[in-house]
Amino acid sequence: MSLLNKKTVEDIDVRGKRVLVRCDFNVPLLNGQITSEKRIVASLPTIRYLIDNGARVILCSHLGRPKGFDPDVSLAPVGERLSDLLGIDVKMASDVVGESAQKLSSELKDGEVMLVENVRFESGETKNDPELSKKFAALADVFVNDAFGSAHRAHCSTTGVADYIPAVCGYLIQKEIEFMGGALENPRRPMVAILGGAKVSDKIGVITNLLDKVDTLIVGGGMAYTFLAARGHNVGDSICEHDKKALALDMLKAAEEKNVKFLLPVDEKVGLEYSPHTVAKVVPYDGIPDGWMGLDIGPETMKIFAKAIEGAGTVIWNGPMGVSEWENFAHGTIAVAKAVAESGAVTIIGGGDSAAAVQKLGFADKMSHISTGGGASLELLEGKVLPGIAALNER
Ligand code: AMP
Repeated sequence: MSLLNKKTVEDIDVRGKRVLVRCDFNVPLLNGQITSEKRIVASLPTIRYLIDNGARVILCSHLGRPKGFDPDVSLAPVGERLSDLLGIDVKMASDVVGESAQKLSSELKDGEVMLVENVRFESGETKNDPELSKKFAALADVFVNDAFGSAHRAHCSTTGVADYIPAVCGYLIQKEIEFMGGALENPRRPMVAILGGAKVSDKIGVITNLLDKVDTLIVGGGMAYTFLAARGHNVGDSICEHDKKALALDMLKAAEEKNVKFLLPVDEKVGLEYSPHTVAKVVPYDGIPDGWMGLDIGPETMKIFAKAIEGAGTVIWNGPMGVSEWENFAHGTIAVAKAVAESGAVTIIGGGDSAAAVQKLGFADKMSHISTGGGASLELLEGKVLPGIAALNER
């Protein structure tokens, strides 16, 4: 399956049609108040396109992890914000696929918008229950998936409903598959992947898949110590998965066989304890004494990594180079962010901590694409088929 051939909202006629849109309105709430409306704002281009083209728009999303009805995670506050942002009255159903949702959806006029309740109020949702999928499909003529962050879940509102009505993607998913799919299927070369973060075990699938695609693989952050230890270097008290050393050696060997340049740190900023204010110093990678732990890459490594990034055609980055939450150990991540931003390459930040770091450090608008789904983008990088995307119709 190619990611690059999926139908989008612009490939179908939506006028007068009831269009069910799966959004990602999983917003942070504090005492019933929305504390960040970023996800609501991100959903607006698709919704506005549908309104402008005379669709009858039925929005749905999950919020939190309720097991059945729970008023604390009602989507009503999201409906109110949407009304303000769109400047029209977004009608709120009191259920997901029940009488209220059915009545409102049958009464919708062209260009009107409604929101059904939290899809996880229905116990069949996360089981991808066909009976519930049919009920979602009965509300609408067409399904639009725009929730990339949930596309790796085979649930009724992300996947099952597409068995019964035509299914296309909205602008958010379109951008994700254009950039992530483009990089994975047809990258501008040389292609450089940068992986960091705490653990090798979280990213075995990613490394294995990327070794078949990239020209250079850069590994920094906590996960680098497992590779360095596997090569016989002393890593002191650094985070290290000793049970993954054999696997790390296999990966290094595979990289050599596939002609992939595998770059590891050559120096480290180490601390005496795992604390933002610990005493710190820079040491070469095989000179981490017992009692010290690597918390960031060192200046020599920053130069080598930046040089490798400089000539790239495509860069994919997932995971910080050190404990970037702490100012004293954020320099490696900042240096890499700067090199990526200045590279002139197609630059893709794969969700989660690296996206947060890039945003916090002020490099967000310099990147070609920052993925909105941590788990979903990791699964794409692992080469997995995301059910919510596989279910979409092809052109
Ligand atoms: P991940 O979620 O796998 O991308 O990992 C991100 C986390 O890895 C962040 O919270 C970092 O603080 C942590 N991390 C990165 N480098 C190190 C390191 N050298 N030692 C301990 N934790 C690290």
